[in-house]
Amino acid sequence: GRAELALYEAKSSGGGRTFSRDAGGEGWVLLSSALANNEFTVVYQPIVNATTGLVAGAEALLRWTRPGKGPVSPAEFIPIAESTGFITKLDHWVLETACREAAAWPRAVAAKVTVNVSGRELHQPDYYQQVVDVLIRTGLPANRLVLEVTESTMEADSQVALDVLRRLRADGVRIAIDDFGTGYSSLSRLHHLPADILKIDRSFVMTIQPQDTGAPLIAAITGLAHALGLTTVAEGVEHEYQARVLAHHGCDENQGWLHGRPDAPELIHAALAQQALSPGEPFVKTYVGN
Ligand code: C2E
Ligand code: MG
Ligand code: MG
Ligand code: MG
Repeated sequence: GRAELALYEAKSSGGGRTFSRDAGGEGWVLLSSALANNEFTVVYQPIVNATTGLVAGAEALLRWTRPGKGPVSPAEFIPIAESTGFITKLDHWVLETACREAAAWPRAVAAKVTVNVSGRELHQPDYYQQVVDVLIRTGLPANRLVLEVTESTMEADSQVALDVLRRLRADGVRIAIDDFGTGYSSLSRLHHLPADILKIDRSFVMTIQPQDTGAPLIAAITGLAHALGLTTVAEGVEHEYQARVLAHHGCDENQGWLHGRPDAPELIHAALAQQALSPGEPFVKTYVGN
C-alpha cells in the first residue's frame, strides 16, 4: 500500500524525509500498526566492567522485523519515528518492556538496564511521572535503570528537560550522555548537565590502532569525565587491543561486539544467571554472529 511505498522511498532517499511530520501521517500509521502487530522486539547488549570482565548491565535496543520482509535497521525507522512523533510511543514501550525484563534478572548481580530516550519526551513535564509509574508497575528499583540521552537532546537547553533529569536522578535513576563527542557540548555545559555516565562514541574507540599503547583522545575524554565525577562506558569495542588501551586509560566499562552483540532477552538473562551462580567469574561471550 501507500505506507509501504513511503518506506521504500524513505529507504532510497536515506532517511524519513518523504514522510509527513504530523501524527496520523503515513509514517505514523506504518509504525503504529507495526507496534500493534507485535513486530517490535527489544534486544540487549552486555556492558562489561573493564577491569573485572563482569557484566555490569545491558543496553536495550529496539528491533523491527517486518513479516515476510525481514529486519529494518534502527538507522531507517528511528528517524521516521522521530519526525512523526511516534518515537514517544516506541520509547515508552521499550522502557516498559526493558524494565519488566530487567526486574526478572537475578537480584544478586544487580545489573543495570540502559534505555535510550529521544529528545521529545524529555521536554514533556509529565515524563518524570511516566518513568516513576513504569518503575512501580514493573517493580524495577530506580537505581537499576539508566536513561541515555544525547548531547543534542540537551542542546535545546530546555529547563523542562533539565528539571525532569534532576528529579529522576534524585530518585536514583542514572543518566548517561550517549554518543559523547559527536555533538556540540561545551565544557561548561557538560559540567552542569545532570548526568552520571559518559558514553564514549564508537568513532573515538575506532581511532585506537592495534600497535597503540595509548590513545590521546581516549585519555582526554576519560580524564575529563572522571574530573567531572562521571563514569565512562566505551561504545563499539570490537577488538581486544581496544579493550586493553581503554583499561589502561581507566575507562570503567566497555560495550561492543568483543563482549557480545545485541541479542534476545534470554541470552543476557542466562549470562546474569551464570554470574549469580559463580560470582567473580568474568563473563564469557557465548554468542557469535548476528
Ligand atoms: P546507540 O544508542 O548509540 O546504540 C549503540 C549502537 O551501536 C547500536 O546500534 C549497537 O548495535 C551498535 N553497536 C554496538 N556494539 C558495536 C560494535 O562493536 N561495532 C559496531 N559497528 N556497532 C556496535 P543499533 O542497535 O543499530 O541502534 C542504532 C541507534 O538507534 C542507537 O544508537 C540509538 O541511537 C537508536 N536506538 C536504538 N534503539 C532505540 C530506542 O529504543 N529508542 C530510541 N530513541 N533510539 C533507539
Ligand atoms: Mg544508546
Ligand atoms: Mg550510543
Ligand atoms: Mg552510538
